[in-house]
Amino acid sequence: MADTALMDKLVSLCKRRGFVFQSSEIYGGLGSVWDYGPLGVELKKNVKDRWWYAMVHARDDIEGLDAAILMHPKVWEASGHVAGFTDPLVDCRQCKNRFRADDPRIKGTPGQSDAQCPVCGTRGSLTEPRLFNLMFKTFMGPVEDSAAVVYLRPETAQGIYVNYLNVLQSSRQRIPFGIAQIGKAFRNEITPGNFVFRTREFEQMEMQFFVRPGTDAEWFERWREWRMNWHHALGLSPAKLQWHQHAGSELAHYAKAAFDIQYQFPFGWQEIEGIHNRGDFDLSRHQEYSGKKLEYFDQARNERYIPYIVETSAGADRVALTLLVDGYREEEVEGETRVVLGLHPNMAPIKAGVFPLVKKDGMPEIATTLYHDLRKQFTCFYDDSGAIGRRYRRMDEAGTPFGVTIDGETISNQTVTVRNRDSMQQERLALSRVAEYLGDKLTLTS
Ligand code: ATP
Repeated sequence: MADTALMDKLVSLCKRRGFVFQSSEIYGGLGSVWDYGPLGVELKKNVKDRWWYAMVHARDDIEGLDAAILMHPKVWEASGHVAGFTDPLVDCRQCKNRFRADDPRIKGTPGQSDAQCPVCGTRGSLTEPRLFNLMFKTFMGPVEDSAAVVYLRPETAQGIYVNYLNVLQSSRQRIPFGIAQIGKAFRNEITPGNFVFRTREFEQMEMQFFVRPGTDAEWFERWREWRMNWHHALGLSPAKLQWHQHAGSELAHYAKAAFDIQYQFPFGWQEIEGIHNRGDFDLSRHQEYSGKKLEYFDQARNERYIPYIVETSAGADRVALTLLVDGYREEEVEGETRVVLGLHPNMAPIKAGVFPLVKKDGMPEIATTLYHDLRKQFTCFYDDSGAIGRRYRRMDEAGTPFGVTIDGETISNQTVTVRNRDSMQQERLALSRVAEYLGDKLTLTS
């Protein structure tokens, strides 16, 4: 399948099955802003729950946090975002379109007569690059003047830094320890696109790990390994995951070292998570700008220091998209194309479909009772309309790993069939054992 064709098919499946809709679609949509429908919200929630489990619940040395989106404007001066969170842009004087200066579609050098606008094709119409800040601005309170400017946070990390002492003291943690947070971030991206890969409003899953200076390199390596393992455990194809190391020129101003976990999307290898050794940049800057001491006193060693930070920063939307891309496949089955979302069962929005074979002979009653029973533990879907094959196909497209069918035999011997989405094999099982069976299959292994 051609790469662009795969993305087109995925976008259309996402709309058809209720994973993702364009924001404000009835008004023509809003650029690169997307809404998650009934299945999409479950998928993204599963991603976030898995992350929260791995980061917070399964560990003793990480605490959770939910900081506000709006923060004191000085935070963004201290962080470097006011001065440096910029992209160089060029405008076309002819058609008024705006591009990133490094847009690969631009031929020639912007600002010179040879440069050609990628939209209207005019030569010499592109301006010199100008810096454009990616933060969304708004005003707090009734007066819209410069003193009232606040920003929608472009990353969740700063909420962690400014709360680090609050969390440390209230949780009685000691260094090394971490703070994890999931939340919305906003960036006025200039060339957004590729569906939910790059959007203007998105969710980040960020963890900042505070360590003693000098131990940062070894923690960095540990976190790299743990994070790659986490992506493998989601069921992503290992061959489509790779490391990308930031070379000196690519390193952000704060970073001592940075590696991205990249996935091979149809539109190329792209970052889904960054792991950064940020040194003491963040806390030193906040100490300087706030005038508050942010040092840690290490009792065991009887020394004071500003902790170094190792950060892991992933996008919930990007990981959800990665699962969809990785899971999508088409197969020929008895002369028909079967579309399957081969999601890991733990990531699937719906765990089991429950189907009475026909709408008579007591089958709907048994199926309904089973459905209500299973729903106490698993997300399930009841479907009694259409041929059973069609119902299975609908669940295949939604990524539902199991289909439970109540048929004539159920009435006579209290057994059901359980169909496996991937193998399409069916096995017979006692009706009373279905919940236990699903529980076994959905047990978390990591
Ligand atoms: P990129 O180079 O793709 O713009 P970045 O290096 O700016 O990403 P970070 O600032 O390190 O990204 O953000 C961490 C994570 O947040 C990324 O790995 C990605 O998963 C997610 N993310 C960043 N920007 C966006 C966006 N515009 N839309 C969706 N997810 C995003």
